[in-house]
Parts: sequence; structure tokens; C-alpha cells
Amino acid sequence: MPLHGILLAFLTLSAALRAAEPAEFRKSESGYVRHWPGELQVVISVPHDGAARPAEIADRKTGVIVRDTHSAALATALRDAMRARFGRAPHLVVCDLSRRKVDCNRDIKEGAQGNPAAEKVWKEYHAMIDEAERDVLGRVPHGLYLDVHSHGHTKERMELGYLLTAEDLRQPDAKLDHDPSFRRKSSIRWLAERTQASFSELVRGKSSMGGLLEERGVAAVPSHLQRPEKEEPYFNGAFNIAAHGSRDKAQLDGIQFEVPRLMRDTDERRAATAKAVAEAVEAYFRTHFRTELRPKDAQGR
Ligand SMILES: [Zn+2]
Repeated sequence: MPLHGILLAFLTLSAALRAAEPAEFRKSESGYVRHWPGELQVVISVPHDGAARPAEIADRKTGVIVRDTHSAALATALRDAMRARFGRAPHLVVCDLSRRKVDCNRDIKEGAQGNPAAEKVWKEYHAMIDEAERDVLGRVPHGLYLDVHSHGHTKERMELGYLLTAEDLRQPDAKLDHDPSFRRKSSIRWLAERTQASFSELVRGKSSMGGLLEERGVAAVPSHLQRPEKEEPYFNGAFNIAAHGSRDKAQLDGIQFEVPRLMRDTDERRAATAKAVAEAVEAYFRTHFRTELRPKDAQGR
């Protein structure tokens, strides 16, 4: 074969090999849920940023239908930041079907409203998160589940949800620490039993997720600097962190992240937010899970 023939054959072969590479994500049977597998003990989900509005799936009749703009792009940035920092990526599960058609952060009755196609997507979404959590717990004893949303509240701050109400979060430290009912109803119940920190420290101290974010210039509530005050809107978490957090069983501890516009609306801001969250997650694991997420040779760098 002449040289140019060999070159041509080589180019054709390498193009074929590239085309045969597996996609980075896999799609559910309906095609409306995507799962990027990962090796880190972190699972991220995005229920409310779906754009698909197929006519054959009826619109929901009641309930919130607002789209969480940029939340999927932010979660992707977060996955990239974690992979860069830890050398391993978290699992990511994204619902691509519009919230007008299905709400995966509500129970199936409210979320799918009896529509079989919507019910199928709802079940696929939760099955993929369950599968990701099982994968994590098959390798390590503990992990963290983050459910990512966007909010349009006036105060530009990250709202972290643990299934504790704003009123719960206004209680004095002594009450949060000594009344076990607060721990028991939270989506980080399992972590609260293991960490050496008090419960008030875990949810709003300097080493809380909010505290660690504030330390990195990301305003967050609850934290050592902010509590949800009376009359202030605050999202405390919903179906996802109840179903996939540790309130009811020993599985991953769950936190809902509600992200304000200026932390998510451009590539640059998403990258900055994602970097801060990845660093905060690293410190959170170190303090409360007693686990280092970065490979040993990269620590201290
Ligand atoms: Zn949402």
C-alpha cells in the first residue's frame, strides 16, 4: 500500500475508534434522564432544569412549574471542578424533561399527576440516583448527596436545605444540640450521629457547609454568619433529600443547594461557584466524615 493509502487507512480507523468511544453519560429508557457515572463518593442531581416539552406528555395541572435555569450547567461545572480537584468525578443525574411535565422533587402523585409517561421518567430519575448511591456505598461506607436548584430570592446567597425549617434554624444552639428531634428529621441524620461536631455546628457553624462556603466568599444560609430570619424566603429542602438523604435510612447524607442568580448565570460565575463548593466539600469530608477526598500525593498542594 502506498504511503498515502496507509495514512488514509489510519485516519479512517482512528475516526471509527473515536466514534465507538462510549458516551460520557447514559440515557434512561425514556431518553429524558441522563446519568454521568463517577468514582467519587458524591452524587449530584438536577431535577428542575429540563427543557424538553413533548406534546405527547400532558402538562401538569397543578404545582410549581418554574424552571431552575442554569442549574444543570452549574452541576456540570461542579462535576468538572471535583474531577479536577479530586481526580475522580461525582455521579451526576439530570432530568431533561420540563417541570411542566414532571417534577422529580415531589412525590410521584404531585410530580407526575397520574400521567404514565411522566411517571416513567420520575421512576427512572429516582432509580438512577438510587443506583448511583448503591455504587458509592459498594465502595466506601459513607457519601454525600447534593440536590442542585436555582432560586430567585432577593438575597444573593446559597440556601442550603437539610429538611429543617427556618424556625428550627432560629433555635438557640443548646436546643438544637440537646433535642434529638432536630437531628432525626434532618437529611444529614446519619452524619450527625458520626461527626464529632455538635449538631448546631454541623448545620450552621464555621465547619458547616454554609460556614465553609462563607469562608470561601460564597454567601450561604444557614452558616455562622446567617440564619433565615422571620419573613425571609428560605428553601429548606424537599422530596429528593428526604428520599435520597439519610433521614430515614443509612444511605448518603443529603443537602439541597439553592443557588442565586449571580452564582450561576455565566460560565465564569459557575466555575467560581463550583470551585468554592468543591473546596468546601473537601473540608466538609475532612472534618465530619474524617475522609480525604484528594489522592495522598496531591494533598497540601
Ligand atoms: Zn428547584
